[in-house]
Amino acid sequence: MKNKMVFIDVLPSPKGVALAIMEACGRDDATMDSVASVIQTDPALAARLFQLANSAHAGRPVGTIQEVVLRLGFSVVRQLALSFSLVDQYQNGSCRAFDYPGFWSHSLLMALACRELGGLLRVAAPDELFVCGLLARIGRLALATIFPREYAELLTLPNAADTLLERERLRLHVDHSELTTVIMTDCSVTTALREAISYHEAPETSGFTEGSPSWRLVQLFYHAKCLADLGQASEEERHDKISELMLSSRKLGLETNEMGNLADRVFAQWREWAALLKMPAVSMPPFATIAAAVSRFEEVGDLPAQLRVLLVEDETTSRLLVASLLKQVLGRPVYCAVNGKEALALALETKPQIVVTDWLMPVMNGIEFCRALRATEWGQSIYVIMLTVVEMENGIEEAFEAGVDDYMPKPVNIPAMKAKMRAALRYTKVLEALAQDRAQLKQLAAELAISNRRLEQLALTDLLTGVPNRRAGMDALSQAWFAADRSGQPLSAMMIDVDHFKTINDNHGHGMGDRVLKEVANAIQTTARRDDSICRLGGEEFLVLCHNTQLGTALQIAERLRKTVDELKYENDGTKIQINVSIGVACKEPGMDNAEALVSAADNALYTAKHLGRNRSCSITQGQVHCMAGKQPS
Ligand code: GH3
Ligand code: MG
Ligand code: MG
Ligand code: MG
Repeated sequence: MKNKMVFIDVLPSPKGVALAIMEACGRDDATMDSVASVIQTDPALAARLFQLANSAHAGRPVGTIQEVVLRLGFSVVRQLALSFSLVDQYQNGSCRAFDYPGFWSHSLLMALACRELGGLLRVAAPDELFVCGLLARIGRLALATIFPREYAELLTLPNAADTLLERERLRLHVDHSELTTVIMTDCSVTTALREAISYHEAPETSGFTEGSPSWRLVQLFYHAKCLADLGQASEEERHDKISELMLSSRKLGLETNEMGNLADRVFAQWREWAALLKMPAVSMPPFATIAAAVSRFEEVGDLPAQLRVLLVEDETTSRLLVASLLKQVLGRPVYCAVNGKEALALALETKPQIVVTDWLMPVMNGIEFCRALRATEWGQSIYVIMLTVVEMENGIEEAFEAGVDDYMPKPVNIPAMKAKMRAALRYTKVLEALAQDRAQLKQLAAELAISNRRLEQLALTDLLTGVPNRRAGMDALSQAWFAADRSGQPLSAMMIDVDHFKTINDNHGHGMGDRVLKEVANAIQTTARRDDSICRLGGEEFLVLCHNTQLGTALQIAERLRKTVDELKYENDGTKIQINVSIGVACKEPGMDNAEALVSAADNALYTAKHLGRNRSCSITQGQVHCMAGKQPS
């Protein structure tokens, strides 16, 4: 500390009248008149005290400085003298990155919060706490005053991972906390208060026994700091600050509405005092309004639209607190259950993606609940976080064996909750993406199967006429041949060829030829029996297979077909087009080696039909030609 004494002369300290007033008020034999006479030597200070005494108190306005001192009391007068002095001296400075007005505004807010908390918690005299609040961060002002350039650099370091205290120690070999202690000593603040202030930025490092007076004092300052932070926070930052504030108020045993009322009082005073001291202050909405509005949480990233979180906790206070933290972190309410059994029923109903469960609970504890969840199919993918207490941490392995994904020590704090939720959400998102991928793959496979079937069909269909093509016809032929072989049933085949088709093409164009082919195919298809297999072999030739059909019947069918085509009426530009087909029919015979032999026999019969004059159906059995024909064109 020795080298720090070098700074003592340049450290911010009350000067002149303020110092005299502080001394006058602090004396055992202080009288109204003695204090008032010192105040009167500083007209500006006197005017401010008048203003404050008359603004802060309802009733008859005070007329003399004695009345002001009487109304405010020595301590308040002393505090005011001190704050006015420091504020006046250090309204501005040469450290360009240091927000002087902001600094004072924060200090004032903290001072007011300390005083109010002091009145509520009775851990120290409210006026003394006011001074502590005002000076709690004075070390920062000191550093900005002593090292304006270096401190500005240090304050503007981008995204430094270390804390401000660490950075200060590293670069300036002294930190603001140490200097605060030095200045507070200078201002005769008691050791106990000084010590508590030195831990107020990180209360968990104090090592004080929980609940002890020292511990409560540190918590009080921390709470005041949180309130001051809230007052200076942007709207986006408010939800973080308010969460810290709520957690801290729980440690102090303050009810939520008690804390809200206190905050509202402090913010109102802040405005009054800030106006008096010419420093910035924000007009804060009622605490309840801020608390209700800060439910958004952007940092965890995009939340799944249907995010469902289930909280299982038997202890009412803890359940309410964790539920409210979760709501703050996720920006939406969570489902709550009071034991594993109830949670299991609720989980079945709501299918949550994330479960936060207590360990020790009546009826069904967290481990049993987790095992029960994991035993179900839908419970496999739920992200489960177990709330633990220190005593249970040795058994954490058991929790993981039961299927827990992560754990979170109680009491839960906001940063931990955020971190855990971030991990849980990442997991949920990965799962969702996987499920989406799987659904997409399924869809793709289905589409592929459909298009394969379409392609297959396409490969077996004649594009012009829509009837099965040669390939399909050959497949059908070989299948029919083997089926007939096996069953011994008769199989007949007919070859159909359009007569003088070349002439149609030649006389009426290829397009007309195509139309004729389609019509003929359609006529064959509609006239043939349902079981008959049809195909276009190529050009203007078609093959029809008549399953389980004797030659005679096949010949009759062929004749019906031929007639149908014969009756088709075509006209092109007023010219009548006559279309006929010749059909050769054959039946599977014992002497035939294979399906080709059957087709060849039908082809022979077709040739005969052509030879005999076309537009007729013919068959040849044992060299004998059977021919059926309609009226020949003239
Ligand atoms: P025949 O009575 O002896 O069967 O005489 P034809 O003219 O019908 O027989 P030919 O084999 O001499 O002529 C068949 C014609 O069919 C020749 C070819 O240009 C035509 N053709 C083949 N495929 C198609 C097609 O897809 N569309 C059209 N428009 N014509 C085709
Ligand atoms: Mg419990
Ligand atoms: Mg032909
Ligand atoms: Mg022909």
